Amino acid sequence: MKRVFNFSAGPAVLPEEVLKEAANEMLNYKGIGMSVMEMSHRSKEFEEILESAKSDLSDLLKISSDYEIVFIQGGASSVFSMVPLNFSENKISDYILTGQWAQKAYDEATRYTKANIIASSKDENYSYIPDCTNLTVTKNADYVYICENNTIYGTKFKTLPDTKGKPLIADLSSCILSEPMDVEKYAMFFAGAQKNIGPAGVTLAVINKELLKRTPLAETPTMMRFSTHVKANSLYNTPPTYGIYLCGKVFKWLKKEGGLSVMKEKNERKASLLYDYLDESTLFKGTVKREDRSLMNAPFITGTKELDEKFIQEAKEAGLVNLKGHRSVGGMRASIYNAMPLEGVETLVEFMKKFERENR
Ligand SMILES: *Cc1c(COP(=O)(O)O)cnc(C)c1O
Repeated sequence: MKRVFNFSAGPAVLPEEVLKEAANEMLNYKGIGMSVMEMSHRSKEFEEILESAKSDLSDLLKISSDYEIVFIQGGASSVFSMVPLNFSENKISDYILTGQWAQKAYDEATRYTKANIIASSKDENYSYIPDCTNLTVTKNADYVYICENNTIYGTKFKTLPDTKGKPLIADLSSCILSEPMDVEKYAMFFAGAQKNIGPAGVTLAVINKELLKRTPLAETPTMMRFSTHVKANSLYNTPPTYGIYLCGKVFKWLKKEGGLSVMKEKNERKASLLYDYLDESTLFKGTVKREDRSLMNAPFITGTKELDEKFIQEAKEAGLVNLKGHRSVGGMRASIYNAMPLEGVETLVEFMKKFERENR
């Protein structure tokens, strides 16, 4: 059966090569007579899977030994509470509000700390990134928090905020590994795997060792302490073994593709193909400020609900699926992560042109 072009925001498209490899190893991983799902997380084989995943990720992002890498569970949403629970010294934190995911992280911080919103784009339904060049950072803030790529709205920080020396903590769920990044600028970043890494169920966190020296709030449960997972090398309890194995395969695929500068070029090519068309179309239009457009998530509208629905339906029939926008924005959204081939975006744009001719 033919595979579709899947524009889902997450869980999202995975590289076909990775899926085929995993299928080949499903019943018998490297001659040991069982699948990765069936093996002990303390076996030598799994230890090797975990170690190569960590070292390949370090190679890709150039993560130095000043950072710890952990694979945890509970999604990016659990990290929203883990951040204030683990890293509050003065119980004051600063958040930049650029969408629902940032809002949810902020809401968790207000449970345990005095959290401030120091910049926001809520006034225009998060269609832009606020100016963060001269923020009023709170004097005793424990950290400054951002959601770097806003999956729902399709905006991305093109330059990181000036945190005035405070540690920067970032949710990179929908942009991690889409381009090279300067790890040293972050005290911590994290991502749910299901957008641009692997299957749902794995959450990746990369944390500076200095930040890890902070004492978690007393009520922090064992499983919610980053130190628990760091000390046990992500093996405190049973980790999502099969998910980590697939993430590891994606890391190897990215290295084989040429690494993150090559991914960046490919992603820019795909995104500009779509955005250039949106800019010239008389039917479709993008919904966010041009300078702040995401490389990964591109929302767009026709202007009427009926045409949006017709488009989504006809696209689906043409094998272009999951183009419905998030319920809070409406319209359409094309998520074009690393694993979306150029051909997928070309097919989408051709389909949009045809739809425009037929429905003008
Ligand atoms: C999807 C998403 C989340 C939520 O991730 P879960 O793993 O479902 O908790 C958080 N932040 C961003 C930016 C996302 O795109």
